[in-house]
Amino acid sequence: MTNSLLDLARERANAFLDELPDRHVGPRATRDELVAALKVPLTDDGENPAAVIDALANGADRGLIGCAGPRYFGFVIGGSLPVALAADWLTSVWDQNAGIYATSPAASVIEDIAREWLLDLFDLPRTAGVGFVTGGQMANFTALAAARHGVLRRAGWNVEEDGLAGAPPVHLVVSAASHITIHFSMRMLGFGTRGLIKVDIDDQGRMRADSLRETLRTLDGPIIVCAQAGNVNSGAVDPLRELAEIAHEHNAWLHIDGAFGLWGRATPAKRALLDGCELADSWANDAHKWLNVPYDSGIVIVQDSASHRAAMTLSAEYLEQTVGVERDNFEWVPEFSRRARGFAIYAAIRALGRRGIAKLVDDCCERAVQFADILGRDERVAILNDVVLNQVLVRFGDSDDRTRDVIARVQREGTCWLSGTTWQGKAAMRISVSNWSTTAEDVEKSSEAILRCLAAAGGES
Ligand SMILES: *Cc1c(COP(=O)(O)O)cnc(C)c1O
Repeated sequence: MTNSLLDLARERANAFLDELPDRHVGPRATRDELVAALKVPLTDDGENPAAVIDALANGADRGLIGCAGPRYFGFVIGGSLPVALAADWLTSVWDQNAGIYATSPAASVIEDIAREWLLDLFDLPRTAGVGFVTGGQMANFTALAAARHGVLRRAGWNVEEDGLAGAPPVHLVVSAASHITIHFSMRMLGFGTRGLIKVDIDDQGRMRADSLRETLRTLDGPIIVCAQAGNVNSGAVDPLRELAEIAHEHNAWLHIDGAFGLWGRATPAKRALLDGCELADSWANDAHKWLNVPYDSGIVIVQDSASHRAAMTLSAEYLEQTVGVERDNFEWVPEFSRRARGFAIYAAIRALGRRGIAKLVDDCCERAVQFADILGRDERVAILNDVVLNQVLVRFGDSDDRTRDVIARVQREGTCWLSGTTWQGKAAMRISVSNWSTTAEDVEKSSEAILRCLAAAGGES
């Protein structure tokens, strides 16, 4: 029974993957159509499993986005490397509970190994704590929980036992361009968002070091600073070395949200851009973005592993992690029972190696530059950002309406898919190249489609 169902799933999976490169990238059905295709009355006795898998695959198809394919440039979404996808299949088949060593020794050892490889690839302190979470949101949350523990402990307060009521106030200093998941993390941590102190950014969306210096000068007591490596719009990276020096002069905890940008550490080509990154106290990253492993896969890294563990465990508050001891994965994340998401990360890193990962990142960055070159040659098009990573911001003519109209046309046309954003108060098209399978031809084809849609929108300059 299991075998024949898996054969069926494999058939459907292969059909999807074969079609993927040429598929209309956006959705092809309305909500009503999807509901009509998928909604059946809940039965008392259930249905034949093979029929259910077929019905699911048929009913969902037109509501699936081609984001795993080569011409999806929306948000910042990677695809799935074949090796990571295969490892992810096995993860489901094995159905391990990755919570503690006893529930899956293999998942524990794999996370230990992946931890070492990641610290090596990112060139971060080799003794840092690493947790495998659902995504960037939980990576930011976990890192900031460790930060909350660390800065309050220095102030003589045990937040895990005593909570925040009556605690010394913590100053929360964030980039004005911080991702919303930073704000949401502050909410979940009991800090709220009203008190966030926002530091000015420059024209690329980078936190200004002089503004941070001014801000910290006025503050006393525990401080957490949230910087960014990889602005979701421009891809810009904050001046990390300077920020780290300023933060540490004030005994502040520096967190870096590097959900996709941290992968720049894995290529020599971007070393200078992410210089000083290693000086921070914590980092958030996504494997499901640029490493191209399936969802859900985020990574949290905390330099002071004792703070990391103390924030995430109920016992052993100041226990140092002892080398050679069995890893209980739950000590580094907010979850208890969970998917063994380390397997896919392990497989991806092992298959690519250092050079393969650097090439994955470099290729995406080159394709982004290619987009900017092709589109920028057209006089009706303005490229709004310095293309330093994998993000390109594009504007058509001088009206928000024109730009939004072109985006909507491109989405409907289906050659590629990308979305809009607001950049410095103006509408912009945002292109993110994050998929391992995107070729130079895909960029040419997509650029042509964009320019075709611009012409159809009546795009004189
Ligand atoms: C994507 C992203 C996040 C959120 O990550 P999720 O995996 O979607 O939870 C946070 N910060 C930045 C900079 C991002 O690009």
